[in-house]
Amino acid sequence: MSQKKTDILIIGLGLAGMTAAITAAKNGKKITIITKTKNIISGNTPKAQGGIVYKGLNDSPDKLKKDILKAGAGHCWEEAVDQLCNSGPKLVQEILINTLKTDFDKQGTNFKRVSEGAHSDARVIYNTDKTGKTIHEAALKHLQSLSNVEILTNHIAIDLLTFSHHSTISTDIYKKPACFGAMVLNKTNNIVVAMLSSKTILASGGLGQLFLHTTNPKEATGDGIAMAWRAGARCFNLHYIQFHPTALYHPSGRFLISEALRGEGGKLINTAGKEFMMEHHKQGALAPRDIVSRSIHMQMLKEDSDCMFLDITHKDKKWIKNRFPTIYSYCKTKGIDITSEPIPIVPAAHYNCGGIGVNLVGKTSLKRLYAIGEAACTGVHGANRLASTSLLECLVWGYFAGKDAIEDKDDANYFPPMHNWQQGKMSVDKAQIAQEWFTIKNTMWNLAGLIRSQGKLHAAMNILRNLQSEVEQTYQKSKLDNDIISLRNGAQTALAIISSSLEARESKGTHYVED
Ligand SMILES: Cc1cc2nc3c(=O)[nH]c(=O)nc-3n(C[C@H](O)[C@H](O)[C@H](O)COP(=O)(O)OP(=O)(O)OC[C@H]3O[C@@H](n4cnc5c(N)ncnc54)[C@H](O)[C@@H]3O)c2cc1C
Repeated sequence: MSQKKTDILIIGLGLAGMTAAITAAKNGKKITIITKTKNIISGNTPKAQGGIVYKGLNDSPDKLKKDILKAGAGHCWEEAVDQLCNSGPKLVQEILINTLKTDFDKQGTNFKRVSEGAHSDARVIYNTDKTGKTIHEAALKHLQSLSNVEILTNHIAIDLLTFSHHSTISTDIYKKPACFGAMVLNKTNNIVVAMLSSKTILASGGLGQLFLHTTNPKEATGDGIAMAWRAGARCFNLHYIQFHPTALYHPSGRFLISEALRGEGGKLINTAGKEFMMEHHKQGALAPRDIVSRSIHMQMLKEDSDCMFLDITHKDKKWIKNRFPTIYSYCKTKGIDITSEPIPIVPAAHYNCGGIGVNLVGKTSLKRLYAIGEAACTGVHGANRLASTSLLECLVWGYFAGKDAIEDKDDANYFPPMHNWQQGKMSVDKAQIAQEWFTIKNTMWNLAGLIRSQGKLHAAMNILRNLQSEVEQTYQKSKLDNDIISLRNGAQTALAIISSSLEARESKGTHYVED
């Protein structure tokens, strides 16, 4: 087994990981940042369409705080919300605008600002409908110019290195469990490397792929939560999964159809071409996200249909093309002309409000281990997320974790001896992997998705316990590759979500339990 040492290992190349790297790189430490994808553009960050919270013209941290607390349904951690509201706009200014020179849309010299669902002010800044991509590219360009930052694509973290996992040595140095880096598979040459690091930052993003329908990319398989869970780090609020009401339903996959389409008068219609949302809520298609998502889901079940439809054809063709250029051209490539036909849509798993529990600087319950971004539970989102606060959370916790990682001296230079580590020899059977994913996705969607019950959750628990145990066995015997590592993590995180859902005693926010 080969070894490599670095000062700070960051797992994930989204906005959270990149912000931590940019911040920590300032004092010259060696930073290694890995992504499991071959493509340097990865994760949920480049998918973000809407924008990022900055500040409105008549805005204040208190106003933003009120909106976040309301959306979070009484489950937010107020200190975390305060940090987001007070530091967030300053960090957007300092990092995104001043340092990265991110190209946000402007009117004259001022940024254009929009309000989104449940915001009391127009405080969201954006770049057309590709805000995430614009921020991602600006951050990457900056990182690539820093000589002490190494970016490794095609490297997948397998597990965190801890005493219990990789050494029999027990020492007085650590009374508490600690993390010494991660086991990483270099997918290019298939070599497993023990990456030893003084500090490890998990920034591995979301878990949408555990559900049948999702807006998240392929790599969003909940790896960080699974690794943290196995290493014994505490996780919180895993049952709060936010679903987006409208993702394009097409055999090639799902694609987010922005809320703005309904904001501009888009109608939700059923298979008979009739509007149905007024039967479910007085605000119709503009009811809160979770209510619209559940209503669409119920309508699909009632009509035994795989999707419902979103219709904007009553608007002028030219106007539609100008107002929604990305959605128009994406749908066109899939053979759907949104100016003349309704868009087939389904609700889709979108955002993970819970995750690895952390404090205000991103520290987990394991020494030397931080978690940030969508993989973490900072307490900001509570039971439901206010739109466009997640990129801001990545920025704020990325900054504070990066800063703390270079300032905290906590036994950072101690590394336990590593056991030799051998992987199995069996080739991974792709058909088996496909079958296990099919089971995870369908179980999570039907039994632990938009509408839950104790009975359905117990049934899901039975299925996933067996599946996780079988997958773990396969993993132990297999020659490692991306598929088996991701599947192992997906199975583990799915089980963790079910456990969390069964423990939760309240139907609240995104965790909707019918009984
Ligand atoms: C379609 C869509 C639209 C959205 N729109 C908005 C919006 O308008 N505003 C807003 O605020 N939020 C939005 N969000 C949410 C927001 O984009 C995400 O919450 C945020 O980008 C998460 O960033 P991150 O840095 O935590 O993770 P990601 O950006 O998801 O990055 C995760 C990284 O971890 C890597 N990784 C994962 N597992 C491993 C492993 N085992 N080993 C190595 N690398 C690994 C991935 O390859 C990737 O590089 C949207 C999300 C989606 C999906």
